[in-house]
Amino acid sequence: DSLSSDDVKQLVREEGVNFIRLQFVDVFGKLKSVSIPAYQLDQALDNKIMFDGSSIKGFVRVEESDMYLAPDPSTYSVLPWTKEGKGKTARLICDVYNTDGTPFEGCPRNVLKNVLKKLKNYGYEYHVGPEVEFFLFETDEDGKPTTDIHDKAGYFDHAPTDLGEDARRDICLALDEMGFEIETSHHEAAPGQHEIDFRYGEALTSADRVSTFKLVVKTIAKQHGLHATFMPKPLKNAHGSCLHLNQSLYKDGKNIFECKDDPMGLSEDAYYFVGGLIKYAREYAAVTNATVNSYKRFVPGYEAPTEVTWATGSRSPLIRIPANRGPATRIELRNPDPTANHYLALAAVLSAGFEGIKNKITPSDCCNENGDNYGDEEVKKFPSSLKEALDEFESSKLMKDSLGKHIFDMYLEAKRKEWRLYSEEIHDWELKHYLKAY
Ligand code: GLN
Ligand code: MG
Ligand code: MG
Ligand code: MG
Repeated sequence: DSLSSDDVKQLVREEGVNFIRLQFVDVFGKLKSVSIPAYQLDQALDNKIMFDGSSIKGFVRVEESDMYLAPDPSTYSVLPWTKEGKGKTARLICDVYNTDGTPFEGCPRNVLKNVLKKLKNYGYEYHVGPEVEFFLFETDEDGKPTTDIHDKAGYFDHAPTDLGEDARRDICLALDEMGFEIETSHHEAAPGQHEIDFRYGEALTSADRVSTFKLVVKTIAKQHGLHATFMPKPLKNAHGSCLHLNQSLYKDGKNIFECKDDPMGLSEDAYYFVGGLIKYAREYAAVTNATVNSYKRFVPGYEAPTEVTWATGSRSPLIRIPANRGPATRIELRNPDPTANHYLALAAVLSAGFEGIKNKITPSDCCNENGDNYGDEEVKKFPSSLKEALDEFESSKLMKDSLGKHIFDMYLEAKRKEWRLYSEEIHDWELKHYLKAY
């Protein structure tokens, strides 16, 4: 169902679309967009729409600031909430190009494409099924987010219809209209926490869908007077929000992680992929878990991993292999959270798993269902702070190679600064514990 430029032009005419939003993400995964009237569509599809790259976080400095947007016609979709009224709007997800017509190395979507291209040279295709969790908070009279939760329900609870449930239903309907195949939608473990799962797909499509998912969730929640947040750990004594990545590799239309002759039903490449994910976990942490708050999720008791291990049943290790086999055979990476730039996260994680395959990295023994038998090798801890993760990231050749020097440097500089600003802050906890005591 891939659309061409001509298909898009025809759809815009037929569907009476008035505006096109040209979307892309900055280095931190934040969605950016510029709106054009439909009569500029030809210009846009010829990659002629220019913007100031120096105003986008992590892109370029002022001296070299002209950039072009290259819309991907296959991402055409009408934004469901604009259908009524005068401003019917469709969106196109774009790559960013330099003035000389080359792909811009600071564009996260280009980075993911590059890593996927390398994989393709080996005949493999990367499939990803993301699970995105989020919280819905009340807003105040001025529409500003509060830290009040709209419900007290828990995992799979069937609450009496409340704002959250209504919002979740409307989110599903909007995603449906935008071509998502929704698999499940449910209340998550923490009060006010939700999850909506959509069907896995080829990695670039899945990454695009994560952008769309966040936009839809925030937009529809707002219509219901709620604030949706993808902050990983908004409440202290409750579960945090993950971005689990269910991954498989395909070759000639077949899932190559399955092997019927193996006791666990997994192929050698599946084991090697796990080996790579384990070996490089501490190096990609700063990408998959991008904020100070991310690391507050990694406390025992909330189904978030703390140790770099793998298992089949248990939910506390970093990696879990769900029971499904056949086309659904997959490796679930459980540490990522939705503050990650999802394009970069997929690029980083795929690079790690792929290194495992290329270098035949065998993972240490699978831990048992209780998650406590780790075999002979010493168990690594996942980084416990953004600072620790950045130290690992900084010395990672794999991360530098897979993200490219431009993004690697920009990202490191910005995240170091984020850590510094956090560290310089005097927090409520400190005042509570030290002001009177000393
Ligand atoms: N919310 C949990 C986390 O932070 C995951 C819970 C689940 O989906 N099983 O990772
Ligand atoms: Mg889930
Ligand atoms: Mg969940
Ligand atoms: Mg999961």
